[in-house]
Amino acid sequence: MTPGLAVVLVRDDPASQVYVRSKGKQTVEVGMNSYEHKLPAHTTEAKLLALINQLNTDSAVHGILVQLPLPEHLDEAVVINAIDSAKDVDGFHISNAGLLATGQQAMLPCTPFGCLMMLREHYGSLSGLNAVVIGRSNIVGKPMAQLLLKDSCTVTVVHSRTRNIPEIVSGADIVVAALGQPLFVKGEWIKPGATVIDVGINRIEQGDGITRLVGDVDYEAAKKIAGAITPVPGGVGPMTIACLLANTVTACCRAHSLPESSFLSA
Ligand code: NDP
Repeated sequence: MTPGLAVVLVRDDPASQVYVRSKGKQTVEVGMNSYEHKLPAHTTEAKLLALINQLNTDSAVHGILVQLPLPEHLDEAVVINAIDSAKDVDGFHISNAGLLATGQQAMLPCTPFGCLMMLREHYGSLSGLNAVVIGRSNIVGKPMAQLLLKDSCTVTVVHSRTRNIPEIVSGADIVVAALGQPLFVKGEWIKPGATVIDVGINRIEQGDGITRLVGDVDYEAAKKIAGAITPVPGGVGPMTIACLLANTVTACCRAHSLPESSFLSA
């Protein structure tokens, strides 16, 4: 049987279309089935929920992803929680969030999962390391902190109200920057040899109307001090998609009571 991933897009902005196309392309490249559902931006909640219900019961579909953000008239929590939690390959369903928060087996949010895989690959064991997560969103910061805690790091989460962020960061063996502020983390904040994971994706003007993508970390300065650092673009982004595909394989294995690869879960 072939794992199948359904991606639902309910808007027509170019950025979301690029993301969805890229996910579909990579799903097919690894030999899985990709099902794209594009709905107009004015789609009603009832119509969207009917499609999700249909995908929930479709045995060829093992993973369902609703591309966020949704248009304002749609309630994201209602829509995400309508997805069968076993097919929630984004890991945003309240059941998966609760399972992760209580240290149980969950479908993991793809971005923090990808960060964790890189850190495990780099260190082997994360036990006892000091980790600082910058940002406390439900999709990145909080699940990242929970995953690091599960791997026995000592975790500090900082946010927009935190005092002395540079001082807190300077004590960290691992820094995960997920705040969405271009070049916020300075090179001199980094402890020599620390590992820096830059989740941020920010588009900035570089003059002459030309823009470029940068992360939340001043990469050029930080790379001279860090032991390891992820670039933007090219670091966390590709890992996020890899973990989406891994979650789809895991969902397929669970649906068919097949043994799961421990490498593909946490
Ligand atoms: P959110 O805007 O939902 O959350 C940002 C968090 O950062 C909040 O907790 C906020 O604090 C905190 N924050 C904002 N400004 C500061 C500041 N000056 N100092 C300290 N903390 C601050 O963002 P997301 O978590 O969704 O995304 C974060 C970044 O990661 C974005 O650039 C996004 O594009 C990128 N991203 C990248 C992905 C990838 O695949 N590479 C996937 C998902 C996101 P408070 O709670 O107090 O407001």
